[in-house]
Amino acid sequence: MKLLENKTTLITGASRGIGRGIAEVFAKNGSNIAFTYNASVDAAKALEKELQSYGVKVKGFQSNAANFDAAQELAKEVLEEFGTIDVLINNAGITKDNLLLRISEEDFDKVIEVNLKSVFNLTKAVIRPMMKQRSGSIINMSSVVGVKGNAGQSNYAASKAGILGFTKSIALELGSRNIRCNAIAPGFIETEMTGALPEETVKEWREAIPLKRGGTPEDIANACVFLASDMAAYITGQTLNVDGGMLT
Ligand code: NAP
Repeated sequence: MKLLENKTTLITGASRGIGRGIAEVFAKNGSNIAFTYNASVDAAKALEKELQSYGVKVKGFQSNAANFDAAQELAKEVLEEFGTIDVLINNAGITKDNLLLRISEEDFDKVIEVNLKSVFNLTKAVIRPMMKQRSGSIINMSSVVGVKGNAGQSNYAASKAGILGFTKSIALELGSRNIRCNAIAPGFIETEMTGALPEETVKEWREAIPLKRGGTPEDIANACVFLASDMAAYITGQTLNVDGGMLT
């Protein structure tokens, strides 16, 4: 059974890592895919080609999620191309880690803009069509770091905690229109983002996780399929930790 047949999903930041994994698993589950990327043109073209092999409609858009006007334009283009947006996955994100003593104002602002303001930009851009169709599922990529904090990541933690407050507020505002809004808090997922960490740190993370391994983009994608599908029709305003038990 394909859980997302005839749905259209817009995913931000799908050229690599978790976003790419979500695009693959969603396409396998029958969803048409509109996805964005920031700079990775070749990776985006390769993903378009790969997803087409699943028999779904696919298009990649180069669009900076941090830019308000670009998000409005993107939603317009996706609607023209696909006719509907049933699921929005706000996944695009960056890190610029440093201790508070050393962090620059620029690096604080940049992380908030790409990770948090982007969620506002895209969500605002899709809710009108979702309200008209009286259905929609919005999934925001937070982090365990947004739930519990992390030394050296005050900018990132603030952006991811902000996403949780935003998610609950949107769930309250739009529940009566049958638009659900949930967050996922991934733990330690092995992508380029975490690949930048020293091997010793990665080893320590893995050992601290009850399931004794880092997560994969597919682990996160499977949780997204559930939240996007009608199987989660009565779930909104929640944060699903997908972390191998890290926060237990
Ligand atoms: P990643 O491998 O670094 O990939 C990031 C993706 O975001 C890329 O596709 C990148 O596009 C895109 N992106 C970056 N800035 C963008 C912008 N301004 N506009 C549009 N797209 C942009 O990261 P990841 O590990 O897959 O993480 C994905 C999400 O999960 C992030 O929100 C991250 O905070 C969250 N998360 C990750 C982990 C983890 O352990 N990996 C844990 C918790 C939460 P380009 O390729 O074009 O640069």
